[in-house]
Amino acid sequence: MIHIEDVEIAKKAREFAHSPYSNFRVGVALRCKNGKVYMGSNVENHGIQGICGERTAFVKALSEGEREFESIIITGAPNGEEPTNECMPCGYCRQFMSEFVDKDFIIGIYDNGKINEYTIDDLLPHSFKL
Ligand code: ZN
Repeated sequence: MIHIEDVEIAKKAREFAHSPYSNFRVGVALRCKNGKVYMGSNVENHGIQGICGERTAFVKALSEGEREFESIIITGAPNGEEPTNECMPCGYCRQFMSEFVDKDFIIGIYDNGKINEYTIDDLLPHSFKL
């Protein structure tokens, strides 16, 4: 189930993005099954590849012991603009998430005022597994 309040949390996370190279801000809200919500934003770096908002939120949560996840809301838009169109997770984030989520985990993509809901199987069918 999507918690509509998570949309505003995801948008708030965009304020903390560090994106001087792409000028694109991503904000996410990752909800755990225990009700705790972790914010994540993209953090870029001139020396090495940056990290996406989705993985930022997962790493924050995982490193604090979380292992049961319910949903993630993803918002994104250029600096100075409000999110409008879908901001889909990159391939790296899809593979990363696939290790930690169940088939009922909802990936909610903000799209012009509504949330389009996907599962990990929708976004990454036939994913790599050891
Ligand atoms: Zn990504």
